[in-house]
Amino acid sequence: MQILENFPLKNLNTLGVEAFSRYFALVESAEEVRAAITSLPHAGVFVLGGGSNIVFTRDFDGLILKSSLKGIRISGSDEDHALVESYSGEEWQDLVEFCISQDLFGIENLTSIPGSVGAAPIQNIGAYGVEIKDLLQSVEAVDLTTGETKIFSKSDCRFGYRNSIFKQELKGRYFVTRIILKLSKRPAFKIGYGELQQKIADLKEPLSARLVASVINGIRAAKLPDPREIGNCGSFFKNCVVTQDIYETLKAENPALPGYPEKEGWVKIPSAWLIEACGWKGYRSGDAAVYPKHALILVNYGNATGADIYRLSEEIIAAIHQRFGLLLEREAQIV
Ligand code: NAP
Repeated sequence: MQILENFPLKNLNTLGVEAFSRYFALVESAEEVRAAITSLPHAGVFVLGGGSNIVFTRDFDGLILKSSLKGIRISGSDEDHALVESYSGEEWQDLVEFCISQDLFGIENLTSIPGSVGAAPIQNIGAYGVEIKDLLQSVEAVDLTTGETKIFSKSDCRFGYRNSIFKQELKGRYFVTRIILKLSKRPAFKIGYGELQQKIADLKEPLSARLVASVINGIRAAKLPDPREIGNCGSFFKNCVVTQDIYETLKAENPALPGYPEKEGWVKIPSAWLIEACGWKGYRSGDAAVYPKHALILVNYGNATGADIYRLSEEIIAAIHQRFGLLLEREAQIV
């Protein structure tokens, strides 16, 4: 392992903004994580995954660690389930492909999500009614303060909507080395989301995990920008979850307002709808913009800085607050 200095991060964040890290190391094992932190004891440490959910608004004056721990395999099995072990430096999509190729079910809705395996549990990635928490058995991670390895069970991770203990009490404290998923050997597809349901209903073929994934790949490709072509970091904001009363009040004033029931007494409002209703969809200021096909995605058309993108997100938050009284929360991590 080499510790590099003044390392450029432009190619390591899908938004494609310029930033430098004072120190940077690509680590291939838990031992290398320990070696890196002990060789620079006073440097602040930041763990970078696939860089697909991050906005660098400035240079980082510490040590960035990126996982290059590799390997995906079936580590256990019974009649109904298989355990799949994946190291954190694998691409999430490679893990999805592996599971589908092994005729395992449950992960297919999480296809085409950019990013690394190690980052997936941090923000409890989710799509089309499935979250990684539904599949996760355990997370192994190295404590960046002591160098010790710890295993987190699913309940230890305290998963919530795009949230986990690793974004709260333990923020920045752990380097994920490995995860174990528990997948079903029997199909039980979740295809209730409107657009997905419609597209599946039009198909003539029998359902398979590969088919569900390929329908979702198509839906996503039609409305989400490919970061290799247009810089972006996926959904920039979380959806708003409000009480039923607040939802009813807003709905009375905005009859088209969509809402999906959450836990008892709460409703989820798609933030993309709110942003579009305030006229921001397609808005552009310099190279920072709101993607014209999806209002939840902020994009960098070339030379936007992280600060430009952040400023745009502030303007959007203020506008939504003024019109609806709701405070949008960023899903993307700001550094
Ligand atoms: P969409 O279908 O346009 O729907 C807008 C929002 O409404 C979604 O965010 C979804 O919430 C919610 N929704 C729609 N149908 C629902 C249903 N039947 N039950 C409950 N909630 C429903 O969404 P989209 O933007 O194209 O995204 C499709 C899926 O991919 C969503 O699940 C979304 O979270 C996921 N996605 C994630 C990212 C990311 O970067 N994290 C990026 C793009 C898409 P939920 O978000 O809670 O599902």
